[in-house]
Amino acid sequence: FLRHNDHELRASKLIAEWPVRENVPDPDPIGVVHFEGADPVFALAEHAKEIHIFRPEPATDEFQRLIEESSGVPASTVAAVPLVSGEITTGVLGFVKYGDRQWHPDELNALKAIASLFAQVQARVEAEERLRYLAEHDDLTGLHNRRALLAHLDARLAAGQPGPVSALYFDLDRLKAVNDYLGHTVGDWFIRVLAERLREGAGPDDLIARLGGDEFVVVPSGPVDADAALELANRLRSRLQQQVCVDGEMLTRTASIGVAQGTPGRDTTSDLLRRADQAVLTAKSAGGNQITVFTDDMSLEAEFRNDIELHLQSVIQDEALLLHFLPEVDMRTGEILATEALVRWHHPTRGLLAPDTFIGVAESVNLAGELGRWVMRTACGEFAKWRAEGIGLDAVLRINVSPVQLVTDGFVASVADIIDEFGLDGSSVCLEITESVVVQDIKTTRITLEGLNEVGVQVAIDDFGTGYSVLSHLKTLPVDTLKIDKGFVQDLGNSPGDLAIVRAIIALAEAFGLQLVAEGVETEAAALTLLRHGCHRAQGFLLSRPIPSNEMRELLARGRIPMRFSATP
Ligand code: C2E
Ligand code: CA
Ligand code: CA
Repeated sequence: FLRHNDHELRASKLIAEWPVRENVPDPDPIGVVHFEGADPVFALAEHAKEIHIFRPEPATDEFQRLIEESSGVPASTVAAVPLVSGEITTGVLGFVKYGDRQWHPDELNALKAIASLFAQVQARVEAEERLRYLAEHDDLTGLHNRRALLAHLDARLAAGQPGPVSALYFDLDRLKAVNDYLGHTVGDWFIRVLAERLREGAGPDDLIARLGGDEFVVVPSGPVDADAALELANRLRSRLQQQVCVDGEMLTRTASIGVAQGTPGRDTTSDLLRRADQAVLTAKSAGGNQITVFTDDMSLEAEFRNDIELHLQSVIQDEALLLHFLPEVDMRTGEILATEALVRWHHPTRGLLAPDTFIGVAESVNLAGELGRWVMRTACGEFAKWRAEGIGLDAVLRINVSPVQLVTDGFVASVADIIDEFGLDGSSVCLEITESVVVQDIKTTRITLEGLNEVGVQVAIDDFGTGYSVLSHLKTLPVDTLKIDKGFVQDLGNSPGDLAIVRAIIALAEAFGLQLVAEGVETEAAALTLLRHGCHRAQGFLLSRPIPSNEMRELLARGRIPMRFSATP
């Protein structure tokens, strides 16, 4: 017989025997035997390193009785050869002789040789299994990895397999910030907790893969239609949303989920994943924290992009662009400290378009530079006009700069020209750049920012907290202001996790002597929370929506917005 030692269970398990006993009772009394309190034949097997010969006394011995009962033959002698791997006894190979006999040294040596062969084969199989495991799993969470996911989907989508096959694509909203402000250990731990929640919430045979970062894919086992997939997505989403306690901080992160189906024999793995990815992008761009099922309409979105691309070529000449302005306020007094220029496009058939719909397209067709120059000239022109009337003399004009623009040759010179052209003081103009671009090409960015510094304009880091952290560069880059991304501010009244991050950013700004502006103040609760923690500059729908140029002029002339909430609690 061959038995395996389960050291976790502290038991010996029967793996194989020959000849196979007949009429084995169920459960088999010698199937799984716990070492503790077991007959010496089993008990010794736990750590044995040497061969043992047992000659049990008939009728007094439990093992003897078992063998006799189950085989009907009186047993006499057992040679038990341990299987040893390193320091560990992994099992035992046993030979039973019915009737007494002497075991010759040659025989024992042969048994030892067999046992050592077994042990070697076993070690090798285990090593191979471990390698296969590593090749198919993610280190951090123990979930499957991308490679395993692709292989699984390839098999599931093969012709003749049952369909439809569903995939749920999870993208955690703003998880990056947890890493950046609370540290990587916390971030890793957080991801592990979320992975565990997915595992608990999914079916036992569902495949769960982590694609790296904060992206996960769940493939339900068996054919699953859109409704059932949506139901699973809902279930998993509510699990993920439960709070996690980290270092005494309660964190919550929402997830965007894209759901898609594929038909075996017709769709490929990449079709299915592309659909799920497109669905999750739609969920994210709709503000995150939602589930989107892929529809054919999403292909229409691609068409929409094409259409925009087509019209955008002529838009700059056609005077179809305009600017709205968003005031920035001191929430303690209502005083207007700055105004941010936000571009709009009056599209011939689609109406007034927000910048998110066309800036990306403009960048992809190399129009970003031209568009950026238009915005800069128009915004500076308006601002200079107001100032000439004595309006907004203490306010700062904020202008968004696209990442592509920032790394374009001659950018600094064109900024200097425009400032000059309108006779503006550099320090009353602030350019806003996003965090991710700063870090992507830190060398070019540094040169550009130093150039801007010489021109005298200010620089703000926009959407701070969402991108790749500039933390490590903050100390040495010529930056004046951080704008806390609205994602952390919108829900500030009731999200302790967001508050932890906002507090960390406030402390950071203080430490580096930077101005701080909160974006996306929508509720009084958020405003009061910010004030309480020492951040009083803010923008947001609670204070004002973006307004047309003439309204901005009037607002600046008045100088303040009445604050309807009280800063003193
Ligand atoms: P941003 O620079 O973060 O601008 C703030 C955006 O947040 C604006 O959207 C504004 O309307 C919106 N917003 C302000 N307060 C609130 C609030 O309380 N709640 C919510 N939910 N939203 C609020 P908008 O105008 O659609 O602009 C979107 C983005 O497009 C801007 O984000 C900016 O990155 C980019 N953008 C706008 N104008 C330009 C431009 O002239 N050039 C470039 N390169 N990018 C621009
Ligand atoms: Ca901005
Ligand atoms: Ca922003």
